[in-house]
Amino acid sequence: MKTKRHTLELAGDGFHVTACFGADACEHRAIESPALPQRLFDALGELGIGDTLRGRVGTQLKAHHIIKIAISYCPNACARSQIADVGLIGAAPPAFDPTCCTACGACSQACREDAIRLDSAEALVGIDYDKCVNCGACAKVCANHCITNRVMGYRLMLGGKLGRHPRFGEELTGLRQPHDLPRLVARCIKNYLQLAQGHERLGDVVSRVGAAALEQPDHK
Ligand code: SF4
Ligand code: SF4
Ligand code: SF4
Repeated sequence: MKTKRHTLELAGDGFHVTACFGADACEHRAIESPALPQRLFDALGELGIGDTLRGRVGTQLKAHHIIKIAISYCPNACARSQIADVGLIGAAPPAFDPTCCTACGACSQACREDAIRLDSAEALVGIDYDKCVNCGACAKVCANHCITNRVMGYRLMLGGKLGRHPRFGEELTGLRQPHDLPRLVARCIKNYLQLAQGHERLGDVVSRVGAAALEQPDHK
């Protein structure tokens, strides 16, 4: 019997959290944090997003008014995180320890980005970090644990959208940890609600003030 895989959809008042099915059903996931969608949903539910948006647009909320949060557990980004108002993409940057490498080549075969160069004579692996997308596949296949993912987390991008003027979300530097994300994403959305003028969507505010400004502690 085949099991159908579903994305997770949590619809709140004025916001919507979507997660790919990777949390517990996809072998490609770079990070595991199955509780994250619900924790984000709970944190955003305290912001009164729907009331604030209705006060601004003066009508019932339409689809494009709803703030979309999309979580993908690996760079394949099946939840389409790049075009969400708030996009999260799981990342597992690789680190290499040459002392245990047997030059078996499994990591290089597993890498779809051609980012691993293997010198069999010297049992040396070189990782091209410009090509690497931090998918974590190489660490999964290294039986000797010479490639590990020491710092896993989420890339955070703000302001993605489709519509008449589509754009990818602007990515903030560094990786965010799952336990920090509910508070952090709530802060970004709170700042957006305070900074938005007229009918500006989150992407419009990011274009005007930059994504980093939405992450700052206070915009009064
Ligand atoms: S984004 Fe990655 S982890 Fe999520 S369903 Fe797609 S391939 Fe699997
Ligand atoms: S999979 Fe591990 S042991 Fe094999 S070549 Fe890569 S780093 Fe070395
Ligand atoms: S993390 Fe992914 S993209 Fe980066 S080197 Fe490993 S397999 Fe290649």
